[in-house]
Amino acid sequence: MPAPADRILTNAEVHTLAEPDETHEAVAVRDGRIVRVGSAYEVAFLEGVATDVVDCEGNVVLPGFIDAHTHLEMVGQHLVHADLRRAGSPAEAVDRLRARAEETDGLVVGYGYDESTWNETRYLTREDLDSVSETRPVIAFREDMHTASVNAAALDRYGDEMPDGDVETEGGEPTGVVVEEAVDPLFEATEPDYAETRDLVVAAQERANELGVTGVHDMCRDSHKPRVYRALDAAGDLTLRTRINYWTTHLDSVVDTGLQTGHGSAMVRTGAIKTYTDGTFGGRTAKLREPYADAPDGETDGKWVVDPDALDEFVATAHDAGLQFTAHAIGDAAVAGVLDVFSEYAAAAARHRVEHAELLTGDLVERFAEVGAVASVQPNFLKWARDDGLYDARLGDRRGDVMPFRELLDAGVPLAFGSDCMPMDPLFGIEQAVTAPDASQRLSVTEALRAYTHGAAYAAGEADELGTVEVGKRGDLVVLDESPWAVADERIADIDVAMTLVGGDVVYR
Ligand SMILES: [Zn+2]
Repeated sequence: MPAPADRILTNAEVHTLAEPDETHEAVAVRDGRIVRVGSAYEVAFLEGVATDVVDCEGNVVLPGFIDAHTHLEMVGQHLVHADLRRAGSPAEAVDRLRARAEETDGLVVGYGYDESTWNETRYLTREDLDSVSETRPVIAFREDMHTASVNAAALDRYGDEMPDGDVETEGGEPTGVVVEEAVDPLFEATEPDYAETRDLVVAAQERANELGVTGVHDMCRDSHKPRVYRALDAAGDLTLRTRINYWTTHLDSVVDTGLQTGHGSAMVRTGAIKTYTDGTFGGRTAKLREPYADAPDGETDGKWVVDPDALDEFVATAHDAGLQFTAHAIGDAAVAGVLDVFSEYAAAAARHRVEHAELLTGDLVERFAEVGAVASVQPNFLKWARDDGLYDARLGDRRGDVMPFRELLDAGVPLAFGSDCMPMDPLFGIEQAVTAPDASQRLSVTEALRAYTHGAAYAAGEADELGTVEVGKRGDLVVLDESPWAVADERIADIDVAMTLVGGDVVYR
């Protein structure tokens, strides 16, 4: 007699996502791992007196979602500070900041505004934010975090630390819009301490579990998060498998400590070393092969934040130390530069990844496949790829070469889905991929789900442990209220998560 299971999910439609269309009625978990997948009858043999049997009432069970690109503190920030993602206009954003100003007497901070979704398509200005407060600094981060808007009080306090080239001016006067390195002092000013960081992470992990997320690849830069994750893990309070991608500022320290990719516990592990190479489309700082279609004064093709030579040094150090590398590259010139560097370092075996990889003109899809790098992409960004969206404005005709998930998959490129927390919501991303405007971007429901599970597990070198419902894998599972295969494609994002399990434990119900 095999030992009884700790928990059985039965009367379910278990999609293993291991083989296309493979489904079973039940799954059993013991000691955190899946011990049987099969018919309700077969799995019932593992039922003991102490086994918790969950009747799923015919609902879909999937491997838990793994979000391959997160900034968990951002999820927490929206729960604590002014949430500007929900503002539909500059005036509404200002209202939300005003409401936040009344709750606090320090800095007034808002996160996530996205002018490209407004009728009045413009950045928030110094004037807007002066109307919130003339004495206290007011800071509104754009959704991409590469652009921010500030009031006069904030310019007074932080302006000296901002490089002139990254502070927008009009007629010699700052407009209140700052980009790239001029945003850094604002990050510093708003940086949470250890206790606040813990609160943000705990709020974020609760939200993640609610959304069916069981694992994240989290980007950590000069943050208390790594210590918070390990402390939560040690206390048994971490309910999200966290792979820490350390910023290059930590590279030497990580190498000195001897940490390699994959080191850690079942819940917290060292992931990759992360860097930017270029900026974003929002700020017209993504590095392009050809100039932007809508550059206001003269031509610009974006900028290097970390150029290929500097990148090569980082990758060499990380690779030699047994560390995976992941490089943010959005524009086609940046992606080409990263792939050239990766081609020198056995990218497939080391799982080196390109984050975002948004504009893939010309040969870049084939080049990706040749190099064997992982494309760590954000299907939720397709919300900007619709008619009159951001990509249309910035890129014109090249909009057709944005996020060609279908072509990447067909070329054999490993595809990992994540959200970049804009917003964190796997089912929203899956709906975007399934309903993508262009055939080169569109995936089937199964393909999209696989990218958010198996693909993300592969991207962390953990496909033997996570990402599908198979015997021997960790019991990270999600139960959905409705089937994404049965509802209309444009309703997938509305599906509710009924239950989330991590290592067989129910972390959300
Ligand atoms: Zn990011």
